[in-house]
Amino acid sequence: METIQVFDVKQGKVVAVEKIDWPDAEWHKLLTPQQYEITTNRGTEMPGSCIFSKVHGPGLFKCVRCDIDLFGSISKFESGTGWPSFWEPVSPLNVKEQPDFSLGMRRTEVLCARCGSHLGHVFDDGPDPSGKRYCMNGLALKFIPLDKL
Ligand SMILES: [Zn+2]
Repeated sequence: METIQVFDVKQGKVVAVEKIDWPDAEWHKLLTPQQYEITTNRGTEMPGSCIFSKVHGPGLFKCVRCDIDLFGSISKFESGTGWPSFWEPVSPLNVKEQPDFSLGMRRTEVLCARCGSHLGHVFDDGPDPSGKRYCMNGLALKFIPLDKL
């Protein structure tokens, strides 16, 4: 079985996890129709619909499909776009970025490094210190408050 290295926030170190490469039919069984549309069909949720827009406490945003750590609340910022936005992932190891030329635009797609879930896109108009704006779909994430980690 293929393993990849990801950063685990709770353990504070890089760990090896099994890579997940399941067929779409398997995800269809496990996810809600909305989660499936976003993470498997590369959909985009309605702006402003994000379940995390009122979440401001400290915690971690994990992959809704495979549970690895993706973003910390410390890097979340109000972008005004209606989508949860972060200036950096917990580690570059935990996300995969690839060119996306769909919809006649040139964008950079962000995927979960472990399960290949579509998370959103990253843009170069974010705040300091990274200048990046990771524009995510809330449905691709799950929020775990710090005291529940
Ligand atoms: Zn994942």
